[in-house]
Amino acid sequence: MGRVYNFSAGPAVLPESVLKEAAAEMLDYKGTGMSVMEMSHRSKAYDEIIKTAEADLRDLMNIPDNYKVLFLQGGASQQFAMIPMNLMKNKVADYIVTGQWAKKAYQEAQKYGKANKIATSEDKTFSYIPDCSDLPISEDADYVYICENNTIYGTKFKELPNTKGKLLVADVSSCFLSEPVDVSKYGVIYGGVQKNIGPAGVVIVIIREDLITEDVLPGTPTMLQYKIHADADSLYNTPPAYGIYICGKVFKWIKEMGGLEAMKEHNEKKAKILYDFLDESKLFKGTVVKEDRSLMNVPFITGDAELDAKFVKAAEAAGFKNLKGHRSVGGMRASIYNAMPIDGVEALVAFMKKFEEENL
Ligand SMILES: *Cc1c(COP(=O)(O)O)cnc(C)c1O
Repeated sequence: MGRVYNFSAGPAVLPESVLKEAAAEMLDYKGTGMSVMEMSHRSKAYDEIIKTAEADLRDLMNIPDNYKVLFLQGGASQQFAMIPMNLMKNKVADYIVTGQWAKKAYQEAQKYGKANKIATSEDKTFSYIPDCSDLPISEDADYVYICENNTIYGTKFKELPNTKGKLLVADVSSCFLSEPVDVSKYGVIYGGVQKNIGPAGVVIVIIREDLITEDVLPGTPTMLQYKIHADADSLYNTPPAYGIYICGKVFKWIKEMGGLEAMKEHNEKKAKILYDFLDESKLFKGTVVKEDRSLMNVPFITGDAELDAKFVKAAEAAGFKNLKGHRSVGGMRASIYNAMPIDGVEALVAFMKKFEEENL
């Protein structure tokens, strides 16, 4: 069997050229006679891998010098605790709850201080992004938290919230490197890499330097202090070394593709093919308010759970994998991350058209 079209929300499709390169280097990385998996993270060869990865990421995202880039472990979910432990100096933070991941972060923060839910779209099953132009931001909030792209529901903040001068913290797991961002607008940007960048096991945290202090909540474990990792350039302990190596290859791939502007164009083109079809289809419909649609995760339904299941099964058989919606919402979801080729989306739409003709 050859490669399939993998629409998984994560872990997700990676560029084929990256996988081939990694395969070619598997047994002997650049004349070292060993795999990157077998290599000391303190070796010269590995030092170059992690430094180059960071430099390429800085270049791609235009990360200002007063921000640190950390390669950590524990997934995006560990940041749900690490953020309040390190940033809740006043023990107050405001959360905008636009989906399950934001909700989990909000719930976790309640363990460490007063977390306020200042806006939510839960009233309509998270199918839109609330108006965030004039929110009741807490006077003493240490930060305002968002999940910028909602992987499960398929919504995206097209405009950042007005935080009224407070620090913005964003989970960008499922839109990382999908388009240009102005890093200076954030205090912290972080994401698990398994959606758009690399293998599970790495989380990247981009954090403004002045936020990295020893003044953390009492009892914060050493491994959960940003300062420990920042001072050691992400090598305090053994990092997720092989994962970072693959991330580095994906950064190079994005650069070759033309950087984040080009990535955005590529992603808009792909998403338009699918959304245009959903808008004209008599069988399938998108579940999200048009203005808030994600470029990365596209949920859709037929309105009939049995027909949805039939579609998912037929699609699987035809080589379109992982189209089942998240277990909490049902229906279908096509995740069309950076590495999903345009051919994949075109082929999916052709398949959906055929299914529609046969089942209407
Ligand atoms: C997948 C995902 C998470 C959880 O990531 P883990 O690495 O499994 O902890 C958190 N936030 C968003 C937006 C996600 O898409």
